[in-house]
Formats: sequence, C-alpha cells, structure tokens
Amino acid sequence: MTQAQELRDQLMEQGVEYVFGWYTDIHGVPKSKCVPVQSLPSMAKGSELYTVGALEGMGDLGPHEDECAGLPDLDRLVVLPWDKRFALVPTRLHLDGVPYEQDARNALVRQVDAAAAAGFTANVGIEPEFYVVRETADGWEPLVASDRAHAKTRGYDLEATVLAEPFLGPMVQHMNGLGWGVYSFDHEGGDGQYEFNFDYTDALTMADQMVLFRLMAKHVARENGCIATFMPKPFQDDFGSAAHINISLADVDTGENVFAAGDGTRAYSDLSRHFVAGVLAHAGAINAVICPTVNSYKRFTSKGYMDEISWAPVHRGWGENNRTLMCRMPVNRHCLEVRTADSAVNYHLGIAMVLAAGLDGIKRQLDAGEPLNRDTYKLSEEELAQYGDLALPATLDEALDEFETDDVAKDVFGPAFHATYLAYKRQEAHEYRSVVTDWETRTYLQRI
Ligand code: GLU
Ligand code: MG
Ligand code: MG
Repeated sequence: MTQAQELRDQLMEQGVEYVFGWYTDIHGVPKSKCVPVQSLPSMAKGSELYTVGALEGMGDLGPHEDECAGLPDLDRLVVLPWDKRFALVPTRLHLDGVPYEQDARNALVRQVDAAAAAGFTANVGIEPEFYVVRETADGWEPLVASDRAHAKTRGYDLEATVLAEPFLGPMVQHMNGLGWGVYSFDHEGGDGQYEFNFDYTDALTMADQMVLFRLMAKHVARENGCIATFMPKPFQDDFGSAAHINISLADVDTGENVFAAGDGTRAYSDLSRHFVAGVLAHAGAINAVICPTVNSYKRFTSKGYMDEISWAPVHRGWGENNRTLMCRMPVNRHCLEVRTADSAVNYHLGIAMVLAAGLDGIKRQLDAGEPLNRDTYKLSEEELAQYGDLALPATLDEALDEFETDDVAKDVFGPAFHATYLAYKRQEAHEYRSVVTDWETRTYLQRI
C-alpha cells in the first residue's frame, strides 16, 4: 500500500470525509479544492489542477495555458479540530512537473533548503495579536463589551481575560489538541485584542500552522457572534496587531541553537549578529512583505491607546530588549525577534524573506554594530542621528521601492513572482492614494 492509501484508510476509520489540499494566495489566504477522502491517493499523485491565474497575486497564467498541479505534503496533514469530518493538507503547486515559482509555500521551501545547505535548521515562533469584535449599529464592539467601559487599557487584565474565556478556551483546546504547545495567552492592550504564545518549531511547520491559526480564530470568533481580524491597525486610537517573528538557527546535525554563544550564558553568538545585520541590511524589502498593506504603516507610531505608548517598533536598528526597534535580541531566549511583522503577513513569504536576509548577513559576515538599548520613542532627531540612518519605510510604497531593487527579495521570490508582487502591491498603494478621505474633506472643504 502507498502512504496515501494507508492514510486514506486511517482517516476513514477516524470518520474523516473530506480532504482539502491547500496553498495560499499572495495575502496568505488558503485556497483549495476539496476531495472526498476516498480520492486522497489520486490527489497525492497531483490529480487536482488549479487555474492559479484566477487567484490573487499568483501570476497571470491565462485561460489557454496549463494549470498547476497540487502535490500534498502528506506528512503534514491535520484533521480540523472543530470539525473532524475535514482534513487539511498543505500542498505544493507544480507547473510542468517543477515547483511553481509564484507559490508562497514553494518560496519558503527554497529558503529552508538553502538554510539546510548552509548547515542550519531555521526555527520560528510567532506571537500573533488580533482583535475579536462584533459589528453593531454603533460600529465595531469588542468581544467583551466591558473592555470599552474602561479608561485604561485592559492589557493583561485578569478579569477581562476570564470574561473572554468563551473565545480563549476553545482556542487553547484546539491548538493544544494539535500539539502546538500553548504556554500562555493574554488580553493584549486593545479592546478585544488577544495574543497567544506557543512552542516554536521549524520554519515551514510554523508558517503552515499560522494559516490554520487564522482559520481557527475566525471560526471560534464566529461561534461567539464575532469576527477575528488580523488587520494591522484596525482602530485609529488603539494598539496595532503585531505578529512578531522570532527566528533562530540550529545546527542541522546536532539541533543546537547556534544563536547562543554556547558558554551556558545569555550571550549571543557572532553568527547571530551577522544574521541580524543581514535582516537590517534588507529591512525595507523585508517590511514590504511582513508589513504588506497600506494600513500596516499606521502601526509604526509611538502612541497606542489614549496616552499610552504603542510598544510598536519605529526605527531600523537592533537592541537587546528594545521594543522600539525592528530587531530585538531578547535576554530570556536566544532568537531574533523581528517586531515590524504584523498580523496581515503571508507567513510563508515573510519568514522566507527574514531567513534569506539573515543567511545573506552570515554569508557576507555583516557587522550589526553595537546594540541600541535606549527608548528611541523619546530621542530627539539629533540624538537619533548619532546612530546612523534609522529610518524605516514610512509607507508601503517606500518599502516597495526597497523591495524592487533588493537582491535578496529577487532571490526569494524569483523574477516572475517578484514582478507580480511588486505590481500587485503598487496597485494596492495606488488605489489607496487615490481615495479622498473623510479627514481631507473635514480639513479642506470649507477652509477657504
Ligand atoms: N501591539 C504592539 C505592536 O503593534 C506590540 C506589543 C508587544 O510587544 O507585544 O507592535
Ligand atoms: Mg504582544
Ligand atoms: Mg514579542
């Protein structure tokens, strides 16, 4: 019996009826055809064909051209925790027998392979932040209405967290049912904003998990009459939703974290600093991918809720425990936390960019310089200037300018996908620029 036949029998015994072979579009939204479980063996051979030209940002294969065949990674199949009739299996698209360039999973697989060839396994942990809100006649209300009746943020608030149990409880159950190892969760700063922390794992597994995470949060929110939103800055006067990418490299043979200096202390290795230098050298291009919307750039402000600070990164630089910068090397673990990443990221593309940039830093032995451990929210322009150019792209367009010429971005995406991403996101930025906003009408219509 083939692996697919064995799996089919096993799934049928468990009561699974359907299998989705999924991949993601440019936004990280999973796309799929569903097959009855009996058809799993033919799906495993690539029976499911996709006209990807019909999808968002996956190239322009026309109606007269070949379709992509989906080849599922059977080892990564999971049964949907909240509806066990369905199984989901991540899939790699192939065109003419070779991996299709404009498939985000393929892009990450290429970087994972490049890391392995350099002797490393990339490990990743994500800290997703998001809002759970319901639409009412008065606009969006938080999952727990009393969040609003509070002059201060309800971040870490014990009672507010208990009240959110109808959402948080099933989430923890589903995640731990899948073996993700949730070790904490909390009420984030925003009204109706939450965050989960769970075990890190290898880069591809984590990117795949995060696709399921979003589906899960949306499902459990719906069960509560709400939606879960991963929009980076959904409310002007409240905190943004980050999705910090914590990444480290392990020796491919021993599994040992090579970001640690290896002397049993909290010290980081030289190699880890080359990695950080690589990320900073490609920061703008990375942000074009990990802060992928026009809305993403509104998160980068020092102000959060009311008069509180935002905790969002505002400068290109690295520090030891500094939350005001793009890169943080936390003192309680050995990894790089990339803080600009937000919850709208396509995880496969975003992790691929960070990994490739870090590997480039190692290859070129780039120097990260000294850590910046000051609160850069409070520094004057003159004080900031002594640390060099710390400016991050202020808009999606500015980030795309860097993405356009960046050699790592070109390598991660490949020429066709790079051009597609650029064209797609430029169009998004252009559409946004053309909108006349309420603010403009309020400010200018009657001024003179
Ligand atoms: N919500 C913050 C942001 O948008 C991050 C808060 C944190 O550090 O957990 O960047
Ligand atoms: Mg947080
Ligand atoms: Mg964090």
